Amino acid sequence: MEILHVSVECYPMAKAGGLADVVGALPKYQQDIGHIAKVVMPMHRTKFLLDNEWEVVHKGGFNMGSSYFDFTIIKEKTNKLGFDLYCVDIYGLLDREKIYSYDDDTERFVAFQIAVLEWLRHWQHQPDVVHVHDYHTALIPFMMKHCFVYNQLSKIRTVLTIHNAQYQGWMNWEKATYLPAWDTWKWGLLDWNNTVNPLACGIKCADKVTTVSPGYMKELFQSANGLEHLFYLEAYKCFGIINGIDYAVWNPKTDTYILDNFTSKDVSEGKTLNKKKLCDDFDFNIELPLFIFIGRLVGEKAADVLPEAISTAYENFGEIFSVLILGSGEKNIEYQLELINKQHVGYYNTQISYNEKLSHQMYAGADFLLMPSRVEPCGLNQMYAMRYGTVPMVRRTGGLQDTVIDYGEENGYGICFSHANTQDILQAMGRALELYKNKKLLTQLRTRMMSVETNWETSAQQYIDLYLSI
Ligand code: ADP
Repeated sequence: MEILHVSVECYPMAKAGGLADVVGALPKYQQDIGHIAKVVMPMHRTKFLLDNEWEVVHKGGFNMGSSYFDFTIIKEKTNKLGFDLYCVDIYGLLDREKIYSYDDDTERFVAFQIAVLEWLRHWQHQPDVVHVHDYHTALIPFMMKHCFVYNQLSKIRTVLTIHNAQYQGWMNWEKATYLPAWDTWKWGLLDWNNTVNPLACGIKCADKVTTVSPGYMKELFQSANGLEHLFYLEAYKCFGIINGIDYAVWNPKTDTYILDNFTSKDVSEGKTLNKKKLCDDFDFNIELPLFIFIGRLVGEKAADVLPEAISTAYENFGEIFSVLILGSGEKNIEYQLELINKQHVGYYNTQISYNEKLSHQMYAGADFLLMPSRVEPCGLNQMYAMRYGTVPMVRRTGGLQDTVIDYGEENGYGICFSHANTQDILQAMGRALELYKNKKLLTQLRTRMMSVETNWETSAQQYIDLYLSI
């Protein structure tokens, strides 16, 4: 089978979060089990783009509303990622440093999707499945089925994977004119609550819809930022498939970002050496337990609860632990977290940035990873933490609930709690501080969590089975 993944992120070309990790890994594992998988994404101006060699494979042009755009498709020449990676360049729209947060994101992402389909309709060689990811690419199934110009693509099967249903890409109805001509009586497929809702449209039009964990799929029927009823209507074609992690990138045995490589056999020594480096870098005492948080500083991740929870933990327990936070997001949360820097010098640090290397060093060197997320479709951080022997402390939600077992339960290794509030976080930290004193148990849990199967192989096969069913 030949699968074309369409996404706006793909590691290592461009990453803002878990979407990139998934799209950078899943095609590789699909190739490994004997299929052809390719990725097409926007040509963001990233280091990977500049560091690698590309060839032009197609040039074209299209109208979008009253504008005309030329576009170019380039392909990475050396198959560096283990699959064909194509990028779409649209002069003035896509060639930018950031992936998101421009005022014209709607225009950028619609233009990207049209360019992909323009390329596909001129490509003699068509894929069997077009697999789109999140709202940025979710208009593609509609356009393939209902825009006259793409009639020849209408038989190709489509799958939409929802990595996060909070973001839906809402557009005013005036912007529907951006799409190539379609049967106007089908407007209902684009609409949800009187706006064009690309994610809702993808759910209606794709042949199958998946989310990145079974737990999150269940939650969407109750809480999906306004799409609950739609999930109920389309439930027959919706499935949850848990993400794996890419062992070629996330493996403490081979990771080149970390100081000392280790396996489950020498986890205590390995972690101690990596912790020493981290503690030296941030002036922390290596004897104290080290808690970390890595991620977007937004309400979804419950990052707003962290400043109060951490400050109260220092008040209640004293300065008997260290905390290192890496992330960026809402300015108010960044500000409040940075305030703690001055109050607990030598015990606390906030790094407001995106830093891939530091994130690896933190997973390797920390004792506990805090993830109080309000919404977590799958969550990769907890799986990376487990792989590196760092105890995940998670709220029971979505994919966190599917992947972390509390150490009080049979075969458990993590710390689970129910609410994204100070009280629950404090209780969880209290348990972590107790656990830290019991080195024998801690080592046992580390060994256990490192052997939990989180590989992509099983999930990649589940996607293949899903494609075969359509
Ligand atoms: P999201 O909802 O952000 O996609 P996931 O848990 O699915 O959350 O994936 C987050 C990914 O982004 C992980 O690979 C994590 O290590 C990485 N990440 C998040 N924030 C940062 C940061 N500030 N620096 C480095 N890596 C980060």
